Amino acid sequence: MKIEEVEGIIVRETNYSESSKILNILTKEKGLIGVMSKGCRNMKNKLRGVSRKLLYGRFHIYYKENGMSTLIEVDVKNSYSKILSNFDGTCYASYLLSLVEQVAGQNNDDSLFDLLRSGLDKINEGFNPLIISNIVELKCLDYLGVTPSIDSCSICGDNKNIITISSPDGGFVCKNCYTNQKIVKPNTIKLIRMFYYVDIDKISKLEIKEESLNEINEFINDYYDRYTGLYLKSKENLLRVIKKVS
Ligand SMILES: [Zn+2]
Repeated sequence: MKIEEVEGIIVRETNYSESSKILNILTKEKGLIGVMSKGCRNMKNKLRGVSRKLLYGRFHIYYKENGMSTLIEVDVKNSYSKILSNFDGTCYASYLLSLVEQVAGQNNDDSLFDLLRSGLDKINEGFNPLIISNIVELKCLDYLGVTPSIDSCSICGDNKNIITISSPDGGFVCKNCYTNQKIVKPNTIKLIRMFYYVDIDKISKLEIKEESLNEINEFINDYYDRYTGLYLKSKENLLRVIKKVS
């Protein structure tokens, strides 16, 4: 085994034996990897504070290509303390970790790391965590190989006279192809396209009417249900918990 350094975010932690944890880390260099943090549950262990979900750092590890690597030490890049001090933020962040982990299970692409990192950075900066989650969800569809048709009509391919977006049809629907799909606000159509293409790091303002937000969220939930095979139970639970508390 050789010592390597990877940049990553811990997406899952699982207790192991008396005093250790297995960390699943989404890394920039190697996609999703499993790392053993030995003894980190002991009070005085130096890995104790850094062996937890949502920590973003540079991980020094004994790297094992087809097996469990071992953690040596961590340089913390962001502990996302603002997310952790906010209930909604923590719920959404936790949901995004589990979403991106599931996506990585199907497509372990290196660039997924930056998608997760940029989303968490924005939630940590105080942006609406539901909107940021919707943006990450839309972008994840690419990795799952089921990008919706949002440049032209999903039925005829024409890019003029788009009047709604329909999950059963797989995206935009134009006036000629329209039968009886649900009509969404013109702004919702525009926003879904913007969400898909936006560079998350460059977002500086997000003001979206509740009505559009609901339509976007509904479209994404239905789309995930139909085309991805991922069951977003954690999202349903999350929304239920947040509603109950607020
Ligand atoms: Zn059409």
